[in-house]
Amino acid sequence: MFNRRKFLQSSFLSSMGLAFAKKDMGTEYVYPNVLNNPVVISTWDAGLEANKAAWEVLNKGGRALDAVEKGVMVTESSLNCCVGLGANPDRDGYVTLDACIMDDRFNCGGVAFLERIKHPISVARRVMEKTPHVLLVGIGAQQFAVAEGFPLEEQKLSESAEKAYQDWLKKSEYKPVINVENTKAQAFAPHKLPNGEWNHDTIGMVAMDASGNLSGSCTTSGMGFKMRGRVGDSPIIGAGLYVDNEVGAATSTGQGEDVIRICGTHTVVEFLRQGFSPEQACKKAVERIYKAKGESARSIQVGFLALNKKGEIGAFCLQKGFTYAVKNNKEEKLYSAKSWF
Ligand code: ASP
Repeated sequence: MFNRRKFLQSSFLSSMGLAFAKKDMGTEYVYPNVLNNPVVISTWDAGLEANKAAWEVLNKGGRALDAVEKGVMVTESSLNCCVGLGANPDRDGYVTLDACIMDDRFNCGGVAFLERIKHPISVARRVMEKTPHVLLVGIGAQQFAVAEGFPLEEQKLSESAEKAYQDWLKKSEYKPVINVENTKAQAFAPHKLPNGEWNHDTIGMVAMDASGNLSGSCTTSGMGFKMRGRVGDSPIIGAGLYVDNEVGAATSTGQGEDVIRICGTHTVVEFLRQGFSPEQACKKAVERIYKAKGESARSIQVGFLALNKKGEIGAFCLQKGFTYAVKNNKEEKLYSAKSWF
């Protein structure tokens, strides 16, 4: 019951700028004052650069939705990264891209198995805003992109991807194992930054704007040397990305198949709803994967990253090595997530 005492209490806290309460379907959420405390978080080291672009939007009072699109576009443009057209190809030698985006009102859009388009995240946003659909794939997604004015880029591998592909072709070993730090799995997705650092195939980003609204984006080239037509978790709402403006948002990276199996980010957000902290919520989703796979989970990586409505952040992964970048009014920093193993 929302009684007079509670009302007075919450309006007092609100007027002090400390908290506000929202009642919905019998659940009362009490938030600290998130207004004017924007934050953006994103997966892996490349998130640091991407967050800068997102922050430019957030810092000016812009929408989280614009911030998460602008942010990951930086990574999609980088030829030194495994996201976007510079990334590793599938086993037939074609780069195929997946992405999705979700706003604070359950609006969402995605593209999968998209070729020759530089910014899949922006096409995903057009799917959300200009079609009655959530997901377009393959040639249909490409035709839609071109009709929307996105240029069709040359079908050409970046120098580093060409080299990686030629190396891979020597054995043509098909092992759908990705991003397991410090193991032989690196040999199957040998994409490194010029400074020698290990890099990854995906960027997932979630943000809260100055109005306290949440949005998220996720974009990837998927698993290096994947089977042609393979689509992972990243463009799938509830798997690679989920946003519920009432409670929080989450994104994922790693072995997409195992994230899809447990509807990973939707699961994380539901744990947030139950009151778990972002780190605990991510850990419980990782635990679910471990329970499903048992010790075979040692050969894969999955990482979750979450932000709740209070502006708290947290992450958890299966194997050591998952990093995530944070930017808010107080800090600009890269963190290492805690791991199951
Ligand atoms: N989750 C992505 C996929 O399975 C890959 C990654 O996160 O690196 O396609």
